[in-house]
Amino acid sequence: MVISDLVVVGAGIVGLAVAREWIFRRPDDTVTVLEREAAPALHQTGHNSGVIHGGIYYQPGSLKARLCVQGARLMYEYCEEKTIPHQRCGKLIVASHRDELPRLDDLEARGTANTVPGLRRIRAGEIGEIEPNAVGLQALHAPNTGIVDYGAVARSLAADIRKAGVTVRFGVDVTSIDRGAPAVIQTAADPITARVVIVCAGLWADRLARRCGAPRDPQIVPFRGAYLGLGPTAPRLNGMIYPVPDPELPFLGVHITSHIDGSATLGPTAMMVGARDAYTLRRLNARDALESLSWPGTWRVARRYWRVGVDEIRMAASRRAFVAAAARYMPGLSVDHLDGSRYAGVRAQAVGRDGSLVDDFVISRDGPVSHVRNAPSPAATSAFALAAELVDRVSRSGV
Ligand SMILES: Cc1cc2nc3c(=O)[nH]c(=O)nc-3n(C[C@H](O)[C@H](O)[C@H](O)COP(=O)(O)OP(=O)(O)OC[C@H]3O[C@@H](n4cnc5c(N)ncnc54)[C@H](O)[C@@H]3O)c2cc1C
Repeated sequence: MVISDLVVVGAGIVGLAVAREWIFRRPDDTVTVLEREAAPALHQTGHNSGVIHGGIYYQPGSLKARLCVQGARLMYEYCEEKTIPHQRCGKLIVASHRDELPRLDDLEARGTANTVPGLRRIRAGEIGEIEPNAVGLQALHAPNTGIVDYGAVARSLAADIRKAGVTVRFGVDVTSIDRGAPAVIQTAADPITARVVIVCAGLWADRLARRCGAPRDPQIVPFRGAYLGLGPTAPRLNGMIYPVPDPELPFLGVHITSHIDGSATLGPTAMMVGARDAYTLRRLNARDALESLSWPGTWRVARRYWRVGVDEIRMAASRRAFVAAAARYMPGLSVDHLDGSRYAGVRAQAVGRDGSLVDDFVISRDGPVSHVRNAPSPAATSAFALAAELVDRVSRSGV
């Protein structure tokens, strides 16, 4: 029987970064990555805003706060080393109303505590110097925030680890994992044995954890994020413009983002949907929907945030409402500036039984098997630091 030293489940950016971290530290080990799809990055890693976050929003001391700041530095270093196109174009978080100013204060305090490079509070007059078409009362400027195509980063990681001797197998659906010594990974085809397993399954993370004997709490509930493309006649954009987010929610609000291919978008929305791969609005998966509806946390979220839910449905139904969300801080923007293109991603948002939208990254370990149970934004930015954290935890456990 061949026993791998490490099996990673999931070839999104987190799983690939974990395999890379492991093989760099232990070059003689046998490492295998198993991915259900036919290529890397076909889910969250390939459907996001493409922002290298600075680390402003996150509770000081949290995993997100620490790993985002470290991860952004490592992401820039990696992109420079591999000549992957990226740009430190900077971002503004704009307060449009007086009642948003205390929340801007809180964000500034968080960003300062998290040591976000170059973060600065600016007055109304300076907003236009950075983004000529933006207006607001005050803003935070984060010049170190940037853009990249995370799908390109993931494909580069897959090539790196293959070169280092890692086996990457596509089209392999992991159905369950027996936590013995060695662990046995059951797939639709042959079982695979491994000393250590690290599961980075994104939108399906809770399902594999449960089949491995872990508790159901927290469960992944899919939140769809839709984007609308801006055409060449849209007001000029130098970097990114974000609103002050609702502190109750783990989403950042509809922002205007430049992308590394030269395009610009509005989005994303955040709407609870009935399929974990709801890249089109009509997509419904009976099992996904049933799991969400039978989870008490889903109903508690719906009761607590029904007003936000109504706004999200309005934006899904009306381009005018969507554009109006961004026109608060870019008043020259109108539906005439949309170019007709659209795309969407689906966030793997862990929801607790009590209806909490789990904010921080969540990692759990049971014997030889570790699970990444919540890795929403900024997990793409944080991927290298999150991978080092996972490998450190396994190493500390004596494996
Ligand atoms: C709309 C949106 C905008 C975002 N914007 C940003 C941003 O600007 N910046 C940022 O840092 N982050 C952003 N994020 C978050 C970021 O995309 C994710 O945190 C990150 O991609 C998570 O990577 P992952 O590898 O954990 O998951 P994924 O990329 O989802 O990969 C998980 C992989 O596991 C595979 N898998 C699952 N189950 C199995 C199984 N049983 N067997 C085999 N394979 C399996 C899946 O097929 C998938 O390929 C955004 C996310 C969304 C949805």
